[in-house]
Amino acid sequence: MQTMYEDGYVQVLDSTQCQQLSKDQWFIRPAIIPQKFNAICTRCNQLISADYQLADGRYYCPFCLSFGRLTSRDYLCSKKPREATKRIVELTWMGQLTRYQQHIADQLCHNYLLQQHTLIWAVTGAGKTEMLFPLIYQVLAEGKRVCLASPRIDVCLELLPRIQQAFQKEAIFLLYGDSEEAYQETNLLICTTHQLIHFYQSFDLLIIDEVDAFPYADDLLLNYATKQALKVTGIQVFLTATPSNRLLKEVKKDQSFAICKLPLRFHQRPLLQPKCIWFNQWVTKLLQQI
Ligand SMILES: [Zn+2]
Repeated sequence: MQTMYEDGYVQVLDSTQCQQLSKDQWFIRPAIIPQKFNAICTRCNQLISADYQLADGRYYCPFCLSFGRLTSRDYLCSKKPREATKRIVELTWMGQLTRYQQHIADQLCHNYLLQQHTLIWAVTGAGKTEMLFPLIYQVLAEGKRVCLASPRIDVCLELLPRIQQAFQKEAIFLLYGDSEEAYQETNLLICTTHQLIHFYQSFDLLIIDEVDAFPYADDLLLNYATKQALKVTGIQVFLTATPSNRLLKEVKKDQSFAICKLPLRFHQRPLLQPKCIWFNQWVTKLLQQI
C-alpha cells in the first residue's frame, strides 16, 4: 500500500491500489503508454521497442530498470503539493559574504521573485554554496521545498555538513543510490541527480551543482527527470565553473534564464591565467646551469 508522502515522491502502484486514491489529491499517471508498435515510459521518457514485452503482452522499461521495474500495468502516483504556508526558518551560518558573493546572492533572490531561472558561472573556490544560503532561506521561509542535486555523490556528501551547519534547525535528508536510510520527507533535500527520477512536481527551487559534470550534461534521462521533479512554477539554479558551449547556447536562447558570472575566488584574487613564453633550447641551458 502507498505511504503518505506529501511531497511529490512517486510510488509505483497497481490499478487496484490506484482506485483508492482521490484524483483531486493525487497525480496518477500510467507508467508506460503502449502505442501501435512500441511504448513510451513516462518515468524516463524513453521509447521502448516491442523487444521489451513480457509473455503476457505487458511492456517493461529497460532504461530505468535500476530504479525498480515498471510495466504497462503500473501507475506512477504522487501526492499533489499542499498549499505553502509561511514559517519561521533560521539561517545559522555566521560567515560573511564578500561584496561580489553578496551581489550574486541578491541577484539570485531577485531572479527568483521574477520567476527567472539562473545559471551561476563562478570559478572553483568562489564560495558558490554560501551564495545560495539567502535564496534557500527565502524559499524555505515561504513554506516551500528546496532540493540541491549534483551528478556527483562526493559533491552531495560534501554539501550535507555545510548545509546542516547553515540551517541547523531544518530537517535535511540526503538521498542517493546506495543510501541505507529509508526516504523521509523534508523541506530541504540533498540528492544525486539520478534520484530526481523519484519526484514529480515536487520542488519550488531545484539547484543543480556541477551541472556540467558527467553524466548529467549529456544524459537525456537526467535532464527529463529534472524537469519532471520541478513544479510548474518552480525555479532552477544551475552552478558551474566550466559551462560547456552547448549549455551556454541553450541558456542564452532561453528567455527564462539569467546568467550570473563571478570570476573571483572568495579571497577576491582573480584566477591565475597561464601565459605562453617561448624559451629556446631550454634543455641545453638547463644543463649548462647545472
Ligand atoms: Zn523508463
